[in-house]
Amino acid sequence: MCRAGNGHSMEKAARQGVGAMGRAYLCPVCKANRREFELVYKLAQEIVKDPDSGATLFCSDELTALLKEDGRPDLDVKCRQCGYVGAEAAFHRAALRDQKAL
Ligand SMILES: [Zn+2]
Repeated sequence: MCRAGNGHSMEKAARQGVGAMGRAYLCPVCKANRREFELVYKLAQEIVKDPDSGATLFCSDELTALLKEDGRPDLDVKCRQCGYVGAEAAFHRAALRDQKAL
């Protein structure tokens, strides 16, 4: 009874390539990777718990992408070279910093 639906809003967000469009990334940790990343979407599912037994009484059918205040998905990025996972903004900032240093 507690299975997630197919998460249409999620698919839509992923198809749009959200946020990630046109922004350069550089891994802030290994500083060697500008090419190979994974986008990590944060998903929310509403549930209701019985506070005494801990049993899950209700699960929403849909997973929804968590959005930031500006309406863009709350994204993390994973570096496929060193495995570091961090906020999308951190990868973008690292790329900007690096360009200024040139
Ligand atoms: Zn890395």
